[in-house]
Amino acid sequence: MRAYTLTLFFLVFLFAISACAQEVDEEREWVPEDTEFYEPVPPVIEAQPAFLEPPSDAIILFDGTDFSNWKMLNGDEDVEWTIEDGVMTVTPGSGDIVTRDNFGTVQLYVEWRAPAEIEGDGQGRGNSGVFLQRRYEVQVLDSYENETYVNGMAGSIYKQYVPLANPASPPGEWNTYNIIYEAPEFNENDELVTPAYFTVIWNGVLVQNRVEVKGNTVYIGLPEYSAHGDDGIRLQDHGDLVSFRNIWVRELDNSPVWGDNLPWPEY
Ligand code: MG
Repeated sequence: MRAYTLTLFFLVFLFAISACAQEVDEEREWVPEDTEFYEPVPPVIEAQPAFLEPPSDAIILFDGTDFSNWKMLNGDEDVEWTIEDGVMTVTPGSGDIVTRDNFGTVQLYVEWRAPAEIEGDGQGRGNSGVFLQRRYEVQVLDSYENETYVNGMAGSIYKQYVPLANPASPPGEWNTYNIIYEAPEFNENDELVTPAYFTVIWNGVLVQNRVEVKGNTVYIGLPEYSAHGDDGIRLQDHGDLVSFRNIWVRELDNSPVWGDNLPWPEY
């Protein structure tokens, strides 16, 4: 009996400790700096933008003429960004824009440019972003001789993954992103079954090699998933005069292996 009571006390004690530990975790007051890292610094690489024309099966999202495929993220139909000489530019303070169509797994090609005139520094210099399914950001930033936390520089999966290299074009010159994005899958209970993955080629250089996305892009705290279906491609207004042009997307089969069931002979 005595042994039984002692064991019971011990179990209650363990439970109390683990509950306490959990509480401490939940009570942690996260600050942005908790998820900002300054190493490893990706090597600076000289590269060319590697411009691509849309292949015949691409869905053109922006060809320089109008915003017919876009709306404001807040739902407004009229896009308040500007178009000049075939180039769209953020109107600071107007808000993010998002495609009218929704997408899942895609190849997405985007050309972007930070302002020639340098203003601000760190995250305040040429900041924008390309969000897949509204939630997962490939950072856009003027990362040419501009120090910031490396998981927040251009080519990063914002606050998650550092790019493998820094092939940034100088301010005022075009960059290209060729992004292969695999959408996450959720079951009928809204639980994550398969995470999202990013592969990113920046100015012809592989900077993200099929990295597993940890969850929604967040500025403060840890990323978490919440279930969603197909959703729009979103461009960020971060208050800087960042420009975009030649945006197209190709819808892909969700399987990363195309033809994994080929009729091989027996061997
Ligand atoms: Mg951004």
